Amino acid sequence: MRLSDTTTLLADLVRLPSVNPMGRSNIPSDITLEHRVTAYLEAKLQELGIPTERQTIAPGRDNLIARFQPAEPTFSVLWECHQDTVPIDGMIVEPFGAQITDGKLYGRGACDVKAGGVAMLSAFARLVQENPSRAAAVTLAFTVDEEHTFLGVQHLMKSGVRADCAIVAEPTQLNIVKSHKGVVRWQIETPGVACHSSRPDQGVNAVYRMGRVLTGIAEYAQNLMASRTDPLLGPPTLSVGMIQGGVSPNTVPDACRIEIDRRLLPGERPEDAPADLDAFLRKTVDVPFQTIPPKWACPALESRGADTLIQRLGTAINTVVATHAVIGVPFGTDASTISSAGLPAVIFGPGDIAQAHTKDEWVELRQVELAADILYRFAVGK
Ligand SMILES: [Zn+2]
Repeated sequence: MRLSDTTTLLADLVRLPSVNPMGRSNIPSDITLEHRVTAYLEAKLQELGIPTERQTIAPGRDNLIARFQPAEPTFSVLWECHQDTVPIDGMIVEPFGAQITDGKLYGRGACDVKAGGVAMLSAFARLVQENPSRAAAVTLAFTVDEEHTFLGVQHLMKSGVRADCAIVAEPTQLNIVKSHKGVVRWQIETPGVACHSSRPDQGVNAVYRMGRVLTGIAEYAQNLMASRTDPLLGPPTLSVGMIQGGVSPNTVPDACRIEIDRRLLPGERPEDAPADLDAFLRKTVDVPFQTIPPKWACPALESRGADTLIQRLGTAINTVVATHAVIGVPFGTDASTISSAGLPAVIFGPGDIAQAHTKDEWVELRQVELAADILYRFAVGK
């Protein structure tokens, strides 16, 4: 099989489950983790005669890296794509069937982001096979755990992978995404004293205390949204998405915990967000509470230093499909971790984010072919 056959590659990859367990323990192990996809990609790259490198992040979870190094590279670029998908709950198409109807391929990961990975692999294979005289040096990296805690890309950047710029595969409808919000999540807990609910005066109700904290947070969130706005991304936001407290209706609760989701604009540091809210609440709320630090964060993506990259990729897109847009998006990606490591990064790929993570996820096969052609042209400057 030729690696230019993007449809066959995509069907093969969709048939290989790589579900991210996302902290859950109730997903069967025969569909979780990235190792099946890693082994397939490794075999394809070895068929090309290209050495590959694995970075083990956890059992069954390896980043896979390959390099195209022309004799006199014009510049260097990192092509990065995640191997994992979200779970398959509620899907109404066969998640790993790779069924093709009317030019669309259906299945979990078809759109997010095995299509983008196929476009990168196919363009990379063409570079290796045609070995054009003037071309970019390309580092191709397939990472793990993008859908949950970004472990793969964090390890990749810590390992010292560098290039002049980076393209991250995500569904953009062949447009260029140059910025997105970041996200950080953390918890706040209020303490109480438990007692029988028939004598509530003998205890301290942690849920009531949390009510006071929540009133303060609602005020903070409103101020935050009014504080500033990004022309492409809108304002920073904060939302309380989960609350947990109490053990039974007849017990005064001794603890209550909430989980906060804070979306960051470019320039905001994830570690500052919990401290800023904490300081506001200490001034405005008169009950005891504790801020529990975040376990992970994804910074915002900003297009600092990406002008040449955006122009070069835009030229390649226009050569193939005549037009494109340069946009910002609300969802987080691996690109911000790469950008934070000093590589100007944008997001590009086939498919529409509207079909990602859906019950009938699909991608238009023609877009995968076009994306592969665009990436090849980007590398050779045509
Ligand atoms: Zn994705």
